[in-house]
Amino acid sequence: MPAPSDDPCGTAESRARLSAGSGNLCAVTNDKNEPIEAVLFDWGGTLAPWHTIDLLGVWRSVATVIDRDRADELAAALLAAEDEVWIRSRDEHRSGTLEEVCAMAEVVMTPEALVEYERLWHPHTELDPEAPATLEGLRARGLRIGVLSNTIWSRQRHESIFARDGILELLDGAVYSSEIAWTKPHEEAFLAAMRAAGASDPARCVFVGDRLFDDVWGAQNVGMRAVHIPHSAITASQLGHTEGVPDATVHNLSDLLDVVDGWMKES
Ligand SMILES: [Mg+2]
Repeated sequence: MPAPSDDPCGTAESRARLSAGSGNLCAVTNDKNEPIEAVLFDWGGTLAPWHTIDLLGVWRSVATVIDRDRADELAAALLAAEDEVWIRSRDEHRSGTLEEVCAMAEVVMTPEALVEYERLWHPHTELDPEAPATLEGLRARGLRIGVLSNTIWSRQRHESIFARDGILELLDGAVYSSEIAWTKPHEEAFLAAMRAAGASDPARCVFVGDRLFDDVWGAQNVGMRAVHIPHSAITASQLGHTEGVPDATVHNLSDLLDVVDGWMKES
């Protein structure tokens, strides 16, 4: 497994050892002096509120469209394959795709089944009602906006969701892990998102997410500030690690504007 940082811990005073259970995991502490130029967002649980989803139920409905007589068998295989991809993401920070999940499960996704899959996911993809105004507020402050999502879905799928919800044109760039080799908290994922948003210095980026390790720790590990939105019911097995001490915590997306304003005054 690649270490999240090539130089975990090190000796520089700017690095902070994190809490118990972290082993040798450390985070680069942002010096807080750089002016902010970009705000990057996680998607699930951040721009879109967290929902607990019956994944087996989703896969059973999809499998019923593919082969009604083998629906339970196919659904179990699809769920096991998806679990394997997410465990790999959690433990090795390597990405996967929906196509890979189907191949691992030895299931051929038909167009009709994909429609069913997307229909069942639809209510769980809807945007936080505060997101558009928050993104517009950041834009009005002259900041660039990006997205970095750990996802098995395609860019096309995510962009269609953002277009549906009216924020696609507010994004300067996005990285979906399905199209790169890594998932958060791997540093290459964060740096790719930064570049996609048109920014060039992690110290001038803020990352906003709902996971303390993947989002907060990962962002700080490359030198970004990190804001935590602590409302997602993420299971311990999904988390893997619990490290991550955010630079700020917000309970509503719109509260992010005050946080950013405070940091802009400091710089
Ligand atoms: Mg999330």
